[in-house]
Amino acid sequence: THFGFTDVTEQEKEQKVHDVFANVAKKYDLMNDAMSMGVHRLWKDYYVGGLNIPYNAKILDMAGGTGDIAFRLCRHSATAKVTVSDINQPMLDVGKERANSEKDIQVNRLEWICANAEEMPFADNTYDLFTMSFGIRNCTHPDKVIQEAFRILKPGGQLAILEFSQVNSALKPIYDAYSFNVIPVLGEILASDRASYQYLVESIRKFPDQDGFSQIIRDKGFDNVRYENLTFGVCAIHKGVKP
Ligand code: SAM
Repeated sequence: THFGFTDVTEQEKEQKVHDVFANVAKKYDLMNDAMSMGVHRLWKDYYVGGLNIPYNAKILDMAGGTGDIAFRLCRHSATAKVTVSDINQPMLDVGKERANSEKDIQVNRLEWICANAEEMPFADNTYDLFTMSFGIRNCTHPDKVIQEAFRILKPGGQLAILEFSQVNSALKPIYDAYSFNVIPVLGEILASDRASYQYLVESIRKFPDQDGFSQIIRDKGFDNVRYENLTFGVCAIHKGVKP
């Protein structure tokens, strides 16, 4: 079966994204390792390692899923408090369990809130840092997410987004072959869910490229917007500051 995401309505897309992650929640961490051959850990380490986290920072990790970024944030900063938010309660449930079993994570520095990134239930000017890793391309209106991030950040607050991006080099044919052929098959073998992984590959292709996404961030009012490619643009880190 095929999701046929090209023709679905916005509501259908939202429902399907929800179903994809509800289906894969328990296998999510294993699948990330398998599909990226472990490299997602290095991308995430690099992303969090490059953040400038103020003392006693309040951080919102949106689409935080099973906590990969939140745990790294807690290890990187001894004082930060992290709100992990995701539209999928099953993903957050896996994350909470993981937090309890990771010895070096103080669970009282984390809160877990089920919410839509396009309509965040947080007050204006609340957070010092907004992070989102591999989540924004799943949202129906990425521009709304950026607008909401702008609203909930304090003046001077930072936005930092890690997301798949566009590979523009001689490696592109290899990357395409891998993502179109290997990833759905891995989804089938490891999670008995080919369609979900087919969707993930398609969503990567449809997401704006590095400059296009930078422009969306600028349009919502952020200053000092810049990006950095990881692994030839397989992903990129976009950053900006709320004036
Ligand atoms: N940030 C985690 C990581 O890097 O491992 C999880 C990334 S996972 C690929 C994408 C997450 O985005 C899923 O947990 C999914 O539930 C969440 N998501 C999708 N649409 C969302 C939305 N509109 N609002 C909030 N979270 C959303």
